[in-house]
Amino acid sequence: MSKKVIVLGEVRDGALRNVSFEAIAAAKKVSGDGEVVGVLIGDSVQDLGQELIQYGADRVVAVEHPHLKHYTSDGYGQAFMAVHDQEEPEAIVFGHTALGKDLSPKIAAKLQSGLVSDVTEIEGEGDDAVFIRPIYSGKAFEKVKINEGPVFFTVRPNNIEPLEQDAGRSGDVSTVSADIQNLRSVVKDVVTKATDGVDMSEAKVIVAGGRGVKGPEGFEPLKELADLLGGAIGASRGACDADYCDYSLQIGQTGKVVTPDLYIAAGISGAIQHLAGMSNSKVIVAINKDPEANIFKVADYGIVGDLFEVIPMMIEEIKQLKV
Ligand code: FAD
Repeated sequence: MSKKVIVLGEVRDGALRNVSFEAIAAAKKVSGDGEVVGVLIGDSVQDLGQELIQYGADRVVAVEHPHLKHYTSDGYGQAFMAVHDQEEPEAIVFGHTALGKDLSPKIAAKLQSGLVSDVTEIEGEGDDAVFIRPIYSGKAFEKVKINEGPVFFTVRPNNIEPLEQDAGRSGDVSTVSADIQNLRSVVKDVVTKATDGVDMSEAKVIVAGGRGVKGPEGFEPLKELADLLGGAIGASRGACDADYCDYSLQIGQTGKVVTPDLYIAAGISGAIQHLAGMSNSKVIVAINKDPEANIFKVADYGIVGDLFEVIPMMIEEIKQLKV
């Protein structure tokens, strides 16, 4: 049976996040040949609708309100429910982002539906779709099939291939008016920490450093390598605890979960809590002086050596390739 699927497009700093396009590709699989409707929530987001359509949505519904300028679960919850009640979809897709992780359980509770969170792969299509998600910190995978009720799932960023953008594709972008009221909190302003470089959660390449970088200055060659590869910097908790870098860079069980195409781990031992955040990366390169380091167990390519010798060599090689 074909399904109507609604997909929440996520906007950050006035632009759609990649995970929105990945969620549309996932929605297409689940819809069979049904309709995929993009949802945009904000105070001035309607103009982004055509981009969602170019990535595969059939049409887009936007909810705009001054109180939706910044995310609150109350405000976005009311806005999303307004679209839901109008569209009456059979399936819902969110990104498994900070926003998606906060909002999806609230919506699932309101709808009294189940929720399959953190999906990394979908086997089959339409009613036969089987959702694959990591469990036990990525040590095993669970396959979930939904036999009845609404199909509600979140997709982990960087795992599901988005459809190719088709600039010639167009569709209807309409608005739903929602009376956003009784908010328990209103965000007046968001002060973002100044960061340079690429956002780790959507980076295709991450160069991560551990306690082996020996100090804040030890991250400099890693930053140079990351910049050359168009990637982001990450860290182990060991490096964060030692004050070599900010905790916002921490990857792992109590940090961020990332799945880039390439993960370079330098001076990281590979504790189970670190692996929980990066072991699903597509290609893992580990650089460590200790040939017995646990990180080599998950690495596709292992380099036994001093990172302060290996990373400059990598930088030189890449510069040569770029000439
Ligand atoms: P170390 O274990 O000290 O490893 C440093 C490595 O660098 C060593 O393998 C060494 O051989 C290598 N090295 C040293 N010098 C060089 C050099 N010059 N060149 C190359 N290699 C070199 N950790 C996380 O990362 N993320 C988490 O989210 C997280 N959550 C946790 C939650 C809990 C409840 C607990 C208990 C722990 C958690 N940890 C987490 C901590 C985790 O157990 C490890 O302590 C931590 O990951 C170790 O960091 P590290 O690999 O940088 O340091």
